[in-house]
Amino acid sequence: MNHLSALKLFNHPENYLQWYRQGYTSNPITVKIDLTNVCNHRCPHCIDASLRGKESLNIDRLNVLLDELAAMGTKGVHYTGGGEPLLYSHFEEAVAIARNYGIEVGLLTNGSLLNRVRVANCSWVRVSLDAYDEKSYQKTHGKGADWETTIEGIKDAARCVRTTVSYLTADGEGVEAFLEIAAGLGVQGAQVSPYTNIRHKITHKMCERWERQYPFARIHREKFSLQEQKGICQSHWFKATNVCATGKVYICCQLAGQKRALIGDIYRERFRDIWTSTRHREVAQALKIEKCPRGCVGATTNQLLRGIKGISDKGTL
Ligand code: SF4
Repeated sequence: MNHLSALKLFNHPENYLQWYRQGYTSNPITVKIDLTNVCNHRCPHCIDASLRGKESLNIDRLNVLLDELAAMGTKGVHYTGGGEPLLYSHFEEAVAIARNYGIEVGLLTNGSLLNRVRVANCSWVRVSLDAYDEKSYQKTHGKGADWETTIEGIKDAARCVRTTVSYLTADGEGVEAFLEIAAGLGVQGAQVSPYTNIRHKITHKMCERWERQYPFARIHREKFSLQEQKGICQSHWFKATNVCATGKVYICCQLAGQKRALIGDIYRERFRDIWTSTRHREVAQALKIEKCPRGCVGATTNQLLRGIKGISDKGTL
């Protein structure tokens, strides 16, 4: 098992040690924030399709939230969906506020509105390209999605900020073509991962071949080999929490919109109170992660932490 991405946890020894001793952390290392539920694309496999709507976070409440997160020691926020973050009317301000509080900003975007000016203050940008030409782009992003504009935006962004492109696959179709295109974009990385909500047919041999052919690419081989998870999720204490554009807070971005994962609402409570609440612990304890998507955002971290602590399938909090 390749724990490369999960190992980043050890860059934050104080959080890790607290979890090791007490079974929880006093603050999240990173938080995912949906700036808006509005989106200009219609991707058939979007995991946030059920969240789609007109809501956007109030910029004043976002300012207070970022202040709270900075005080709690949070290192980074990811501006992501809900919808497309670059459609948020205060996007640049949202980045500037976070940076002023000393919080790093990562942007996850469909790339359609990308340019170097808009993302100049971001720490990194990841574009969900999921395509290798106009036809495949319209298949994965919906009719009307403009391939050329997105490609030009990616090239422009990559000149000033670390930019990567990603490709989700269930059967390997188009991976080589995607990596060929990625190689010519001037981006700092390209990654291939499985859809979390579709069973895939990718084999170890296929991953090896792509790694050999395209050494610059990051093939998430560990995610392709994940089995169904059991027990209690541990990784959500570090990085999966999602503040949605409605203000609702979910224990994990992959369960956003699901009642079983709801832990609070920032329009009613302070984030710190939500984070330290009994409800947060109870939701975490009751979560049946057998129902979580394979290859989810926390799967490799869960596997690593279980291995370290020798946690049984019953888990602990
Ligand atoms: S197991 Fe995965 S999907 Fe489930 S709560 Fe943890 S990180 Fe989220």
